[in-house]
Amino acid sequence: MQLAQQRTTQQWQAADAAHFLHPFTDFQALAKKGSRIITRAENIYLWDSEGRKVLDAMSGLWCVNVGYGQQRLIDAATQQLRELPFYNAFFQTATPPAIALAELLSEVTPPQFQHVFFTGSGSEGNDTVVRMVRRYWDLQGQPQRKVIISRRNAYHGSTMAGASLGGMADMHAQGGLPIPDIVHIDQPYWVQHGQGMSRDEFGLVAARWLEDKILELGPERVAAFIGEPVQGAGGVIIPAATYWPEVQRICDKYGILLVSDEVICGFGRTGRWFGCETFGARPDLMTFAKGVTSGYIPLGGVMVGDRVAKTLIEQGGEFEHGYTYSGHPVACAVALANIGLIRELKLVEQVHDNTGPYLAEAFASLREHPLVGDAETCGLMGALLLVKDKAGLKPFDRTVGIGMVCRGHCFANGLIMRAVGNRMIIAPPLVMTRAQIDEMTALIRRCLDLTLADAQREGWL
Ligand code: PMP
Repeated sequence: MQLAQQRTTQQWQAADAAHFLHPFTDFQALAKKGSRIITRAENIYLWDSEGRKVLDAMSGLWCVNVGYGQQRLIDAATQQLRELPFYNAFFQTATPPAIALAELLSEVTPPQFQHVFFTGSGSEGNDTVVRMVRRYWDLQGQPQRKVIISRRNAYHGSTMAGASLGGMADMHAQGGLPIPDIVHIDQPYWVQHGQGMSRDEFGLVAARWLEDKILELGPERVAAFIGEPVQGAGGVIIPAATYWPEVQRICDKYGILLVSDEVICGFGRTGRWFGCETFGARPDLMTFAKGVTSGYIPLGGVMVGDRVAKTLIEQGGEFEHGYTYSGHPVACAVALANIGLIRELKLVEQVHDNTGPYLAEAFASLREHPLVGDAETCGLMGALLLVKDKAGLKPFDRTVGIGMVCRGHCFANGLIMRAVGNRMIIAPPLVMTRAQIDEMTALIRRCLDLTLADAQREGWL
């Protein structure tokens, strides 16, 4: 009998509450309520231990780009487990899957990237970025260039450096973060900072906050700027088209390294292989994870552009950094199969030419709903802003927790959609078809109606 069937839902929930501390969770509250136990998945659907089917509009956690149940990935893992389940890359050794993946990544990433440093996750990737950026400037004879500029409401992981780079105040409040020499500017969120300007005007204004910060700190102290092309966990904050080219111009002007955190935006999410290609930036370093294996097995890394690679290789000597699982052969074998499948199914082109524009139309139609103040998409990610009053995008009272109310209806109606404050967000698997977009949109509409009915009944409007 399969493990999932060996206990009842209640038995799983009891053992879960007794032993498993979940990430980003109020342990006591969850123990009282009981987890939903997910037991299997296929394509874009999940099933829980009660046999209920759920449309997974979050691709697991922004990662299952090729959808669930892809035999090619399963076979790649099985074969590699049999042949060589593990060997490290520390002892002047390497395994064929890690070498072949490094080579393939330099093919699918922008041309400045010919080298990769493997990690086990996105957070470890961003820790690597901090080590690498500072090492680069040391080797350049500018050790005072230590400061990395990031943005409020960014998410770059949960390790000490990852959480420091991130701009989440609640995370900084636990554990004395950020670590030294990481500073934050405001995010390019038009609803929060830009109303009264056109979006494109605001994009330039927001980018110039970077220049203001550089001048405030002194350019000679600034090592790098890091940003997600689209801020995912922050609520799918899609910048204006003017933003990234201006950020690039400013980084070039002061010689500052540009780091694109592609953990969510990489591997087709935005309709190009990498988000920096969609938004017109040319980063020096690029963090990736999630979509590289479609989440079937953990893997992350940093693409190292020629500027940094040349210095590290030619002048660096030993780089005192690495992880046991840097270049894990099974993870790399799955990534090879995954990237092969993305290419074969032409998923990036499909998102760019077909399902991305179709999702944009579907979301535009949701703008007519009385609760929706704004609806935006980029490739196969999207956000709905829930408002009390469309005029001036007037928000609901914070105590209402409108996003969580809507999320509750989604969960109860077979849809996983995430709430970030008053933004309802999606990032479905890239294999999603037009018919499935219709199915998802109908579910979203139903959940918005149920949320509106709550708002009317409770007098929140
Ligand atoms: N960067 C970004 C942009 C992310 O969205 C995430 C995870 N959601 C991370 C880094 C951290 O990745 P991980 O959880 O694999 O450590």
